[in-house]
Parts: sequence; structure tokens; C-alpha cells
Amino acid sequence: MATIDDFIHEPRVAYFSMEIALRNEIPTYAGGLGVLAGDTLRSAADLEIPLVAVTLASTAGYFRQMIDAEGRQTEQTDPWEPSQWAVSLDAIVAVTIEGRRVWIGGWLYVLGGHMNGTQPVVLLDTDLEQNGADDRAITRQLYGGDEAYRLRQEVVLGIGGIRMLQALGFQLRQYHMNEGHSALLALELLRRYAHPTEEVRAGESPYDIPRVRELCCFTTHTPVEAGHDKFGYDLVQRVLGDYIDPLTLRHLAGAEDLNMTRLALNLSEYVNGVARRHAEVSRHMFPGYHVHAVTNGVHPFTWTSVPFRKLFDARLPGWCHEPELLMRAECCIPDESVLMAHEEAKQRLIDEVNTRSGISLSVDCFTLGFARRMTAYKRPDLLFSDLERLQEIARRHPIQIVLAGKAHPKDASGKQLIETLHNHIRELGSVIPVAYLPDYDMATALALVSGVDVWLNTPLRPMEASGTSGMKAAFNGVPHVSVLDGWWIEGCIEGITGWAIGDDASSANGNDAGHLYQKLEQTILPLYYEDRAGWTAIMKGAIAKCASYFNSQRMMRRYASEAYVR
Ligand SMILES: *Cc1c(COP(=O)(O)O)cnc(C)c1O
Repeated sequence: MATIDDFIHEPRVAYFSMEIALRNEIPTYAGGLGVLAGDTLRSAADLEIPLVAVTLASTAGYFRQMIDAEGRQTEQTDPWEPSQWAVSLDAIVAVTIEGRRVWIGGWLYVLGGHMNGTQPVVLLDTDLEQNGADDRAITRQLYGGDEAYRLRQEVVLGIGGIRMLQALGFQLRQYHMNEGHSALLALELLRRYAHPTEEVRAGESPYDIPRVRELCCFTTHTPVEAGHDKFGYDLVQRVLGDYIDPLTLRHLAGAEDLNMTRLALNLSEYVNGVARRHAEVSRHMFPGYHVHAVTNGVHPFTWTSVPFRKLFDARLPGWCHEPELLMRAECCIPDESVLMAHEEAKQRLIDEVNTRSGISLSVDCFTLGFARRMTAYKRPDLLFSDLERLQEIARRHPIQIVLAGKAHPKDASGKQLIETLHNHIRELGSVIPVAYLPDYDMATALALVSGVDVWLNTPLRPMEASGTSGMKAAFNGVPHVSVLDGWWIEGCIEGITGWAIGDDASSANGNDAGHLYQKLEQTILPLYYEDRAGWTAIMKGAIAKCASYFNSQRMMRRYASEAYVR
């Protein structure tokens, strides 16, 4: 079993994330942000780029989703046992929260890529005898509790995380904040790099801000103002006390509220958005900052189904390490092999759906998939805007649909969407069989993106910062039909890698349902049912032109060469 000593002999980049999808059995993630963090580490392991990740143990997980016959979501905790997967850390450190000393221990999880590389992951845990009951619960529930609970978690993650890495003896050369949740780490660095008091002139900051900026990089993921974590200064004062000079804090994090995104922006030399459009939107939202664009990617091995792994291994060996090789797919893989690999993945999905949902889907029927966090801007109901029209389309060319996704327990409109979808499922009856798989997780995601025929995305522009599930589909020869937002603005070559809904990235959101129906009826379904060769060309186009680029090996190489080596 690996220990900390295996990882402290060389300088590392500390990668901080509130959620990380380490593996399907460990429910310390809620959605795309956590999956991206996991894929980042898996690629860093493959490419042997030395990182150390810091996150919360989230021992009660995010939540387990149950859905009743009416489509009402209920939640249960989703506990996991860290000792089953990770080793207990020797060190404990403390932070001060609301004037109390809160002790933090934790776990070392060793994450493996698909090859020999590994990365250490430190899971912070306050569930220690030394702490009172409330403090023991700080690292329990991912995205649970109220605002004060969230701020306490962010103190543990950012401030506690830095102290823990130091106590464990890590040598750190850079700090990477994956989203603003961990931005308090930069305050801890400021305190560490403060000028000696006798050298500070009146009116000057006692902190060496340029020094801290050189050490930090920040990836923002949220293209809407409301999505950024903000805390009122009353609460901040109560939780942090005199941890940091209040004037400096207001100068760095905003005059009105402590805005975690602004704090991270002001204390990071390198800042990036997660797709080109998202970087543009972020530049408008935060004028005066240089926001780079590093488009997200997905981890090749993790997101490729077994039949396609075998096929790529045989035809394009080395594809996992260098997914660029997949650009040869069009010439080097026979059509028949692509179709057979897909049919195998589709059969697996359909067997699973039929067992789990009791609905009887057929391998011969065109299957559309949509699964993601259920939240208003993702518009999961767009496909069902006009049920008559959809049924009319399906009478000519049969359609079946598989859906999945969790709504945050406090997102009333997200939960309402799940109910609405269940109403539509009933109304569509036997004309269009629709299955909704509960408890969306990494395993369900892989089964879905590899087993459907087309993957759908319908976000409200410009709210999808990147989106990654469509990239996973591409690794499995499954083309994407989507509104032009996030990564799809870069990935879509109409009729070659998939299809756009609406004409361009600025077209009105209001016509999207009509465009989607038109594209299904006139382009996608006729091609699927009447032109096998044309269809296979698009499957290969998705592999050759999307999977070869939208992967986390490319993404990680860019972080390494642009953000970490400066
Ligand atoms: C990939 C993935 C996501 C993110 O998908 P998007 O397309 O970015 O919404 C969310 N949840 C799970 C379980 C995933 O595997």
C-alpha cells in the first residue's frame, strides 16, 4: 500500500477541488465539476505530471436518488467508508472557525490512471473525537447544509488543506483552484508570505500579493453571476474572526460580499475558462482580467466502453496515452467493426435498462440519450415541448429515449423538471418508450453515452460552460446533437461529427425545440434508418474529430505547459 512517503520526494502541484469523482464506488462528486477533477488527476497520472489533490472526505456522499411513480425525487445519504479505500493520515492540523479550534485529519487515496502512474489524493475529514458534534459534520455532506455550513467547509478545504499538505511534508510549486470553493487557500498563502511588520509602510498591504499570484492558478466553471459562491461579511467575520485584515479582504474579494471567484481571480496569475466561449463570457463578466481558454476534455480509458477499448487497442495502439491517434479512425478502422462495437455497447445498455426499469427497449430502435444534472438551464424538457409533433416524427421513424439525472435537494425547479419528465413519459405511452434511470453516477453515465445512438444536449446559451458528456459519447462513436454552446461550438462540424440545434451560437434560445424536431425528422432519423454507410461515417467522424481532441490528456498537457510552467 502506497504511503505519503512515496509522494513527497519531488515538488508537486496542489490541485484543490470541492468534489472529485475518484471512482464509481466513492460518491464524493455531484456532477461535471467532480468528474472533470477526477479526469484531470487520471490524466496527470497517465502523463506522470506530479500533482497532489485536496478535497473533502464527504463521508455521507452527495445523495442517493430515488424516484417514485409520480416522478418525485427523494434523497437518502450515500455513505462510504474511507478506510475501505484509503489509508488514514498520520497528521492532524487545526483551523479556527467561529473562535473554536477545529481539528482536521484525513485520508490518503491513491488514484491510478490506466497505466502505471498514480496521484495522491488527500481527503480532509473533521470527524474526529477532538471536535464537537457540529464540527465533526463539516466534511460529511457534499453541497449540503446552509451558507454557514458551506463557508465552514471552504475554510477546511482551503485553509485546512494548505496546512495539511505542509504537515504531511509535501513540497509544492503551484496551487490550482478548481472553481472558487477553495479560494481561501490563497489567503492562507498571503499570511504565509506576509512582509515582516517592521518593513510595512503606512497604507501599504502587509502581504506579498505578487508572490502569491505567481503561485496560484484558477479555473472558473460558472458563466452566470448567480453561480458564484458569495458570503456576506457578517458571516465571514463570525466564521473567520481576525484571520485576515478586513480591508485587504474587501480589496481582494469584493466590497459587498466575499466573492470567491473574485478572490481567486485577484490572487491567481493564470486564470482560465473551460471552453473558448466560456472564457469570452468570463472576460465580459470580469473585465480587466486575462482569462485563457483551456477547453475541457474527458479521460480516454475511463469513458470508453469495453468493446471500443478492444477495437482501438487492436487498430490504434497507444490511443489511451495519445488520443490524437484516434484521428486515424476513419481510415484505419473498418465500418463493420465500429458498428459491431456499438451494437455490443447498445445491447449492454438495453439489458440494463430493461432490468432496472422494467421497460422493454429494443436494439433495433433509434435510441436518444440525455442525462445530466437536472437543473433549469439544461432544459431537459425541451425535447418534450410538443408531444404531438414528437409522436408524429416517431410514427415515421421509431424512437426510444433514455434519461437520467439528479436534482440538488434544494433545487425546487430541478425536482419539478423530473416530475414533468415523468408526466411526459406517461403521456407518450407506447408510441415512444422512455426510461428514466434513477441515481445517475459514473457507471450509468458510461453505459448511457456508449449505448445510445445519439447524445442530446439542450442548454440555455451561454450557460453551459463546457459540458463533457458529449465528449464521452464521441469516444464511443456516438454522435452529439446539441445547441451550440460550451464545447460544442468548437466540436460541431455539421453532418460530420454530429449536428447543431439552431444555426449559430448566438441564435435565439426560443426556437430550439422546433429546430431539434426538424433536425431529427429531416436529417438524423432518415440517415440512421436509411443510410448505414452515411451513419457510420458520422460515428467515425465523432471519434476521429472529437475524441482525438476533446480529451483530458490534451487538457492536462496544456495545464502543465501553460499554467504550471510559467
Ligand atoms: C460526465 C458527467 C456529468 C457531466 O455531464 P455534462 O454533459 O457536463 O452535464 C455529470 N454527471 C456524471 C455522473 C457524469 O459522468
